[in-house]
Amino acid sequence: MRVLGIETSCDETGVALYDSDRGLLADALFSQIDLHRVYGGVVPELASRDHVKRLIPLLREVFASAGLEPGEVDAVAYTAGPGLVGALLVGAASARALAFGWGVPALGVHHMEGHLLAPMLEANPPQFPFVALLVSGGHTQLVRVDAIGEYTLLGESLDDAAGEAFDKSAKLMGLPYPGGPEIARLAEQGREGRFRFPRPMTDRPGLEFSFSGLKTAVLTAWQDCQSSGNDDLQTRCDLALAFEQAVCETLVIKCRRALQQTGLQRLVIAGGVSANRRLRAGLEQMTAELGGSVFYARPVFCTDNGAMIAYAGCQRLMAGQQDQGGIVARARWPMEELPPLHATGS
Ligand code: ATP
Ligand code: MG
Ligand code: FE
Repeated sequence: MRVLGIETSCDETGVALYDSDRGLLADALFSQIDLHRVYGGVVPELASRDHVKRLIPLLREVFASAGLEPGEVDAVAYTAGPGLVGALLVGAASARALAFGWGVPALGVHHMEGHLLAPMLEANPPQFPFVALLVSGGHTQLVRVDAIGEYTLLGESLDDAAGEAFDKSAKLMGLPYPGGPEIARLAEQGREGRFRFPRPMTDRPGLEFSFSGLKTAVLTAWQDCQSSGNDDLQTRCDLALAFEQAVCETLVIKCRRALQQTGLQRLVIAGGVSANRRLRAGLEQMTAELGGSVFYARPVFCTDNGAMIAYAGCQRLMAGQQDQGGIVARARWPMEELPPLHATGS
């Protein structure tokens, strides 16, 4: 089955073609980062309008690069939520219209299921069951994954998501949006030991996270440096390193716990923060100690992209699932509400 995937949940327009026999055929992305950077974060109305502008050129691009005529697909998958409603509606309405015009089924895909399955696009994909750490701009969750659509939430952030903590901490030090890659870059020049931040909620049992206190700790340290005239680049690098270490170590501790608690050996990490090299290295080491392994996607498939939506949609469409009724875009949508793969199989 050949599926067109469309992602427009936030500030990336992603379009891809995935074939169940041949794999990924084409993938195109437009990131709106430069558009939103001047505002220090995503402006929803600007995001929606820009998706309208980018979608058709990207669609032409993927069909051309796959050597196909527009419409030579068996189905269309699009992100139906969670995300910014206006942005989601652009992808949803376009996908449904294309599917209607081409006479093929459409399916609304859960954005986090897309992230979760992105590592399946790589060589040596993980086998079920596994523990997944979803770490993105809006989510920090540990999930037990027994199969596609069989998800048990083990724990999540009680406040800020990990990516959000990166973005907010970067912003308060005057670094540009998005802060994750910026902090990671500065941390490479950071000096070990000048600052130390807490590893929140690691001193008690459980798989919940809390990252908002860490951001406040960075703010306090940064303000202290500013008032003593030490607010130079090196200080930002040192703070970035201490912050990144605190987040990564916290995530590693909780992932270790989740593997031990479930008795599983495979860990999948997905979402923008899973691109972080320190996190990957920490999890490689931890899983190796437990005799397990960690799986992740290539960096461009960690952040938002169309390929993950085409892949996730293809799995469900092959099982016979497809949209019924009107166009739906959901700002909030717990992943546990998703049906198992063969619930409506044909
Ligand atoms: P969600 O998927 O929860 O709806 P989102 O789509 O905005 O949120 P993603 O696109 O998956 O999130 O990821 C973006 C986030 O990843 C941002 O917060 C960004 O700062 C962070 N990020 C990207 N690269 C890195 C990195 N190398 N290190 C740390 N964080 C990173
Ligand atoms: Mg984004
Ligand atoms: Fe995302």
